[in-house]
Amino acid sequence: MSLPLVSSNSSRLFLPLLLLAVTMALYSPIASFIEHNRGFSVNLPYFLFGSSLVLTHLFKQGRIAMVALAMIAAYTVIQTRLQTPLSTGTTLLELSILAFLLPVSCTLPFLFRDTKLFSRGVAAFIFILLIFASWSSLILTHFYTGGFDSFGQDLLYSVDTLSKLPVVLVLYCLAMTGIGGIFVLNYNRSIDVVIYSSVLLSSATFSFFHVPYISCMLFSLSGALMVIYLISTTYYMAFNDRLTNIPGRRALELDIKHMGRKFTIAMLDIDYFKKFNDTYGHETGDDVLKLVASRMQMLSGNAKIYRYGGEEFTILFKGKTTKECKRDLEELREEIQHYEMVLRDTSARPDKASDGAARRGISNKTKSVNVTISIGAADSRTTRDPEAVMKLADNALYKAKEQGRNRVVFSR
Ligand code: GH3
Ligand code: MG
Ligand code: MG
Repeated sequence: MSLPLVSSNSSRLFLPLLLLAVTMALYSPIASFIEHNRGFSVNLPYFLFGSSLVLTHLFKQGRIAMVALAMIAAYTVIQTRLQTPLSTGTTLLELSILAFLLPVSCTLPFLFRDTKLFSRGVAAFIFILLIFASWSSLILTHFYTGGFDSFGQDLLYSVDTLSKLPVVLVLYCLAMTGIGGIFVLNYNRSIDVVIYSSVLLSSATFSFFHVPYISCMLFSLSGALMVIYLISTTYYMAFNDRLTNIPGRRALELDIKHMGRKFTIAMLDIDYFKKFNDTYGHETGDDVLKLVASRMQMLSGNAKIYRYGGEEFTILFKGKTTKECKRDLEELREEIQHYEMVLRDTSARPDKASDGAARRGISNKTKSVNVTISIGAADSRTTRDPEAVMKLADNALYKAKEQGRNRVVFSR
């Protein structure tokens, strides 16, 4: 159960770029729509970032709230101060300051821990934004008194055919976007994606600021993406198991309704897991659950895996009979049996570890341990009702346990 379009790191890297390209390609119709619906269009970014703020409050995503606040502040500056031609007054200087400060403001949340919307962290962030605003107004005042005579020729040098924004700032925006992209590729957390898409789209706005309605278009796009990312994050949290990072029971309950005519369901349970926890501690037990989940992820074909609950997992094989799944399941069982798991802290291992360890295949001489799993599987030959097949698989699992564990049993 996942939304691949907005969850894999490469798609998260390319989606904002693709949407930017599409917006540019459809510029004329979008611009004419904005022209005919000015009130709605100009206020759309406020509505989208405002909605994001509400979602960050509901889902306790304080750092994304910071990015939304920075974007709202920047859009307000654009709408209230930068609607005059770039060549007049301080407009270009103001745009330059904004183009410098917004990427900084958008990446600042990395320095904070994730908190609620109404928290000291977010208050501190707002305070920093206010400092930026005061600093900007100080610069503007000095500019008026004539302190920056040669600024336009030197630092604010621009290649007008490319962008009205000074070259140095275009390069800076590109660099900040690139850094955001690297974070998306490496970590792919929702905060990385939100920062990356916001910096990318605001940078594009600043770089092509002379294009009519550009801020309204790209800030709306950025706000829409923020809403989508927030919803997809909570969707992911609702359907994925936090510990093992694979889909959980809720996802299974939805997916099992769409199994088609031919399918196999396998129920998998870790052997003597209660004793394992008692011997090596709950944390090592959690590592075992992660290990089993990661091994299951390596299953080939169209096998879908779920954490059913506790130390039980489920595998759905669409379009396969038990006969066709036999090899996969036996291989999985053997792989887990032979996997040597290194203990985190052997000194904390109590003496009673030797107790029955050999019987369970837990090595006591080395610092690693093994676990085994039992599997019960059934297919849709007897009944096509997935719930009934699951029950058959569960009965088969029970038999596997009865027959001594560490084996795969098929329902007949
Ligand atoms: P059997 O071979 O018959 O399956 O024995 P078992 O001990 O594995 O089965 P039992 O159902 O008695 O115990 C399941 C144990 O799984 C109990 C509980 O401590 C452990 N468990 C369930 N969820 C978690 C979890 O999230 N983390 C850890 N570490 N242990 C868990
Ligand atoms: Mg169990
Ligand atoms: Mg068990």
